[in-house]
Amino acid sequence: MLFARSKLLSAREYLKAHFTEKVNWVQISDSEITSILSEAIADYKKEIEKLIVSDPEVSGNIALLVDYVIRYALKEKASDIHIEPLRTETLIRFRKDGMLHNVFTFPQKIHTAVIARFKILANAKIDEYRRPQDGRIEPADIPDVSLRVSFIPTLHGEKIVLRVLDDSGQTLTLNDLGFSEEQEKTLLQNIEKPFGMIVTSGPTGSGKTTTLYALLHALKNDSINISTLEDPVEYSLSGVNQMQINPRLDISFATGLRAFLRQDPDVIMVGEIRDAETMNMSANAAMTGHMVLTTIHTNDAPSAFVRFLEMGVDDFVLTSIINLVIAQRLVRRVCDKCTESVPLDPIIYSKLLEREDIISVFKENGVKKLEDLSTMKFSKGKGCDVCMNTGYKGRLGLYELLLPTKNIRDLILKHASSEEIKESAKKDGYKDMVSDGVTKVLAGRTTIEEVLRVTRHV
Ligand SMILES: [Zn+2]
Repeated sequence: MLFARSKLLSAREYLKAHFTEKVNWVQISDSEITSILSEAIADYKKEIEKLIVSDPEVSGNIALLVDYVIRYALKEKASDIHIEPLRTETLIRFRKDGMLHNVFTFPQKIHTAVIARFKILANAKIDEYRRPQDGRIEPADIPDVSLRVSFIPTLHGEKIVLRVLDDSGQTLTLNDLGFSEEQEKTLLQNIEKPFGMIVTSGPTGSGKTTTLYALLHALKNDSINISTLEDPVEYSLSGVNQMQINPRLDISFATGLRAFLRQDPDVIMVGEIRDAETMNMSANAAMTGHMVLTTIHTNDAPSAFVRFLEMGVDDFVLTSIINLVIAQRLVRRVCDKCTESVPLDPIIYSKLLEREDIISVFKENGVKKLEDLSTMKFSKGKGCDVCMNTGYKGRLGLYELLLPTKNIRDLILKHASSEEIKESAKKDGYKDMVSDGVTKVLAGRTTIEEVLRVTRHV
């Protein structure tokens, strides 16, 4: 039954609160409830606004408000919900496609009650408001979704951030993530090798883990044992053993990895390599016949080698275990529904002129003169209902794939700089993510603005 085990407001409670005159809520069937409810709450935002202006302090209304905020965020496919106390009101923002958007504000007088409602749902302590707390909400009527909740004390009251976790086990394919056919071929060739390491690099929020999940999905079959060590587990993958880092129980990347190695592994994903101990254990696992997938925080693919050497890995070991390094950034996709062909904004054009790296890729792609860029037309969303008027819907990756060719292995043995590695790789046909970005701009999949934004520090 819909809403049955939920700690969120049940459908019958909802109807009782809102439709007493219209329907005899006691006698109607569950399927009728479902359809009435879906019509009634088709637009959560309107419902929330109604609650805020009516009498928000009534306790039933607080429960409804919190319920709708969660449902509205899920409907909008937000990845995070921020509930922030300001001086005179509380601001709700959703993160969508990597960007925060203001959604609405509610009066400060109900802030404490809203926080308390979230604490009840998340099994957090209601009377603790001076220390940070964590919790989890698992709405039973919304399958495959759970929310990780964090409460922190701030100057004007407690702030909550809810991260939406997808438990559906559905993984995006490499193609969905924006890898080209050629890149996909390289990836598949390298994960099918019997042992070694595949590394994805990039800053937090660049989609590294999602790429590894897609690779695990491509690798998965009944004849191999796949284990992952994550901090935290953000998606559940069926048929994969997922373990979460827990410092209180002494489960770190290093101790977890040691335990996995006693469990007859074939493929191991180590969420992140942050220290020499984890790197050396991962390198050992890769050398002894295992496929290790991992991530590292570096700006680009060539820097990953330099960073590993700084961690004290033997250079010869490094050259023999790394199969492939991927570096990536996420850009927003142009909304299909409102895309149009327009010239560049003059401000963007002037910013573009400062970026020699991007200009040189345009030149390689047949743009002869710089002035041509000011008259060329590019795809851009003008904003519509589907994309919350942002002109963007969904995201895709900009990727660079670096294979350790003979030239690069020699440079690693010489402890060369990342610039030297990059120069040499280019001679072997390596294309960096700026180049991938320009290709995607020319294909109308993203915009120059997005490429400029995410490749500033490459
Ligand atoms: Zn649109």
